[in-house]
Amino acid sequence: MSINSFESLSVFLKEKRRIVILTHWSPDGDAMGSSLGLDNFLKKIGHDAKVIVPNDYPEFLWWMQGHSAVINAEKNKEAAHAAITAAELIFCLDFNDLSRINSLGQFVAEQKKPMVMIDHHPSPSPFADYMLHDVAASSTCELIYRFIAMMNGTDKIDADIAECLYAGIMTDTGSFRFPSTTVETHRVVADLMSKGAQHSLVHNRVYDDNSESRLRLLGYALSEKLTVLPEFRTAFFTLTNEEHDRFNYKKGDTEGLVNYALTIRGIVFAAFFSERDGKVKCSFRSKGSFDVNLFARANFSGGGHRNAAGGASDDTLENVVKKFKAVVPDYAEQLKNS
Ligand code: 5GP
Ligand code: MN
Repeated sequence: MSINSFESLSVFLKEKRRIVILTHWSPDGDAMGSSLGLDNFLKKIGHDAKVIVPNDYPEFLWWMQGHSAVINAEKNKEAAHAAITAAELIFCLDFNDLSRINSLGQFVAEQKKPMVMIDHHPSPSPFADYMLHDVAASSTCELIYRFIAMMNGTDKIDADIAECLYAGIMTDTGSFRFPSTTVETHRVVADLMSKGAQHSLVHNRVYDDNSESRLRLLGYALSEKLTVLPEFRTAFFTLTNEEHDRFNYKKGDTEGLVNYALTIRGIVFAAFFSERDGKVKCSFRSKGSFDVNLFARANFSGGGHRNAAGGASDDTLENVVKKFKAVVPDYAEQLKNS
């Protein structure tokens, strides 16, 4: 049966289904909040749902209901493949191109299962049968709330679902301060609070969960590893493999670091280059009109949103930084006006 409209999807979901939920490589708060929020909702309305992540996600998200049943495809490929093979429907959340789930992407494409994409990143690839896609949405979690509302299911939202969705909206909006935050975002959040989401608790669990070494790594990066290019209103951090090891790096420890560069007066473009697992991971953030999605696509085989994007390179950290410094001047005019 083809599931190319919300109507056909909701008919399909009238019977109990085996459903797999996938999210992007290196899942963040929005990825996990939307996946586990939807997972809990689908279970509540009688489906057999499973969440598969391509790789690990940070410990400060492990409190979410359903975390312990999440299948990590990097650690347990057989279980991930078996669940995908058995699935009648696949949800793809917070990503819009199968390359964002790395090697799982090809396996998923080969299965030819009905797919639903719920996402808010620009330029979606047309791989899904049904898409709930809105670049103006603050987060995929906000779109999951919208999806649940379309299913007439908001009365099924309990405190667990509400806290998953709250966490994703909170992290993707920088605690409700990025321009992507709308009146609708606050309405959704108000409803999540009325369903039992404890906002202070969620903030504490996500933001007040530092190890000592994480805080020291932040201090080190701020004092020793920040380069400012005032003429281009740009600032960036770098961290080598050795520095990660020295501070006992754990996944998620540098989450948010790049934003500190953007807090410097006059800086509108921030970057973070991090050497890990034989690659250099790039994070880009901007203020105003400077489009880091386009910058990441053009220079670092990445993508994302206008004000938050990422990419990666197989080159050395030194060469990546050289390249960055060489291309930034090409954007001088845009950076001046951002
Ligand atoms: P972060 O810097 O937090 O890793 O990523 C910021 C944003 O850019 C997120 O919305 C994420 O989905 C997107 N992003 C990060 N890395 C990549 C990448 O390699 N490719 C694409 N297309 N998007 C990315
Ligand atoms: Mn997101």
